[in-house]
Amino acid sequence: MKRGFQAVKGTRDILPPDSALWNHVEQTAREVFRVYNFQEIRLPIFEETELFARSVGADTDIVSKEMYTFEDRDGTSVSLRPEATASVVRAYVEHGLHTRPGLTKLYYIGPMFRRERPQKGRFRQFYQIGAEVLGPSDHPALDAEIIELVMVFIERCGLRGCALYVNSIGCSQCRPKYVETLRGALQKVKSKLGPDSQRRIETNPLRVLDSKVEAEQPLIEKLPSILDHLCSACRDHYEKVKQELKDRGVPFEENWRLVRGLDYYVRTTFEVTAPGLGAQNAVCGGGRYDGLVELLGGPPTKGTGWALGTDRLILALQQATTAKPETPLDVFLVWLGQPAYARARQLARRLRDAGTSVDLTYEEAKLKKALGLADRAGARFALILGENELAQNKITLREMQSGHQRSLSEDELLKELAKPQMHTDEHR
Ligand code: ATP
Ligand code: MG
Repeated sequence: MKRGFQAVKGTRDILPPDSALWNHVEQTAREVFRVYNFQEIRLPIFEETELFARSVGADTDIVSKEMYTFEDRDGTSVSLRPEATASVVRAYVEHGLHTRPGLTKLYYIGPMFRRERPQKGRFRQFYQIGAEVLGPSDHPALDAEIIELVMVFIERCGLRGCALYVNSIGCSQCRPKYVETLRGALQKVKSKLGPDSQRRIETNPLRVLDSKVEAEQPLIEKLPSILDHLCSACRDHYEKVKQELKDRGVPFEENWRLVRGLDYYVRTTFEVTAPGLGAQNAVCGGGRYDGLVELLGGPPTKGTGWALGTDRLILALQQATTAKPETPLDVFLVWLGQPAYARARQLARRLRDAGTSVDLTYEEAKLKKALGLADRAGARFALILGENELAQNKITLREMQSGHQRSLSEDELLKELAKPQMHTDEHR
């Protein structure tokens, strides 16, 4: 026997019935984006490495350690995308979307790639659903609205008990001064910090605030807070974002330690955590990124957005409910004898054209066996086409659960099946 293959470490297959839940979540996202007037952008899976180095930041973990980078045949360095905001902004500049009137509200759905240590809720190929608003306005209502959007989406998926944390990390005016203050404070407690945090005092002190190391927590709690160092414009913006959230009835908590692992964020940052996920409990992260468009060669533009980890949202949903997603089969067609097969093929086509899901036997089987197959397929109805039915120009409709049978003409049958069925494809 030849050796078999396994999916590469950190990647996985999403099989039925789980794929039905994925579709449900993605369709819910599309529906929520539609009502908030966001339109889809479809982006390449790989880009020039330089795009990520310049936007996400060359010194971030994502770019320095986690990217799948390779040399293309012409020598260009390209990378599988670790996130999609860089690509959205690249596309925005490349296609001159800023010349279109009003704000550009976009969403994307698709896989991202980061070479991290695989664990529960952490994969090397994972999936994100994301939203971005680009344009001339940095109104706090935009930050609040995209936050409201993601909370509505999560709720419509049926997940309860998520928490929203918000923060402001200032701007190029006030943050550098704060970072120096923070660095000074960190230097004083350096010997008590672990190796990662010690290193970050030099490279990126803000990231120390993000540390999950238990022993460091009491020290970090006593560090100076960015909220005491915001310039008046940033403070005003932050206050208005919070007020907007209150006015919209979106519950949140403030967390001054919430910084993000990407360099391009300014002012608003936020994160949503979900229950039941253990250490990897962040399902969504986002914030404002004014200036990123300029950094990638475009005109002065404001931006705000988020990315939600679909894998984690789905894990949380699966944890919260035992109900299996279902894609019920409407009809299993049973035919007896070759003349019936010719009719069955036509009938299957007609039903499918009318939107009814149909499966059927491909080889002739006895009635009892065929009904067993219909049962195993989870069909709501079996349709039986035998010699008698052919002779009378009728079809037998059998309700699988009750065993109740009726004899109908083809037109009656189509009408019967067109009635809305009670599907159980809710995941609550
Ligand atoms: P974390 O702190 O959990 O590593 P992050 O800050 O790196 O998250 P972002 O870059 O903000 O995450 O991405 C947004 C969301 O994408 C995260 O909140 C998470 O739900 C999801 N995500 C990020 N990395 C992974 C991964 N390797 N596997 C699965 N989901 C991920
Ligand atoms: Mg990460």
